[in-house]
Amino acid sequence: MDVKKRVALVAHDNMKRDLAEWVDWNWEKLLEHHLICTGTTGKMVEKTLKDRRGSDLHTSEMDITLLKSGPLGGDQQLGAMIAEGRVEALIFFWDPMQAQPHDVDVKALLRLATLYNVPTAINRSSADFLISSPLFGSDYCPVVKDYKSYIERTLNQ
Ligand code: PGA
Repeated sequence: MDVKKRVALVAHDNMKRDLAEWVDWNWEKLLEHHLICTGTTGKMVEKTLKDRRGSDLHTSEMDITLLKSGPLGGDQQLGAMIAEGRVEALIFFWDPMQAQPHDVDVKALLRLATLYNVPTAINRSSADFLISSPLFGSDYCPVVKDYKSYIERTLNQ
């Protein structure tokens, strides 16, 4: 894992304000990393970082990829990136109080993050713990289980 990490940021609508505040609080650290966001969350993250830095924030400093909006496939795009080993941390403020039209995608995203042992924060306190860990700024490499025997067993059935 590189010191500069690919950090995914996603927030459901009722949680976007929480994430905006968290991004505002952690803007300096976040600018050191490559940010990957679902569409609407990404626009909000961009705005928060720009508001924070004002005119001295050059576009080249902000390393951010915007995927599709979550309900339009953004969670699935992110899940695919995780399966390909292209995401090193996931900050996902999901809404515990409201069902989402894309609940199945949300579940799939969280499943893949767990399967691939991606450090995941699901609320502000866990995001605080994650970003303040010394491992966040190091080249920590999470162990991913070897599923070869699972594949072999399936092929031999
Ligand atoms: P959004 O998607 O950033 O486009 O709102 C978030 C989500 O996955 O629900």
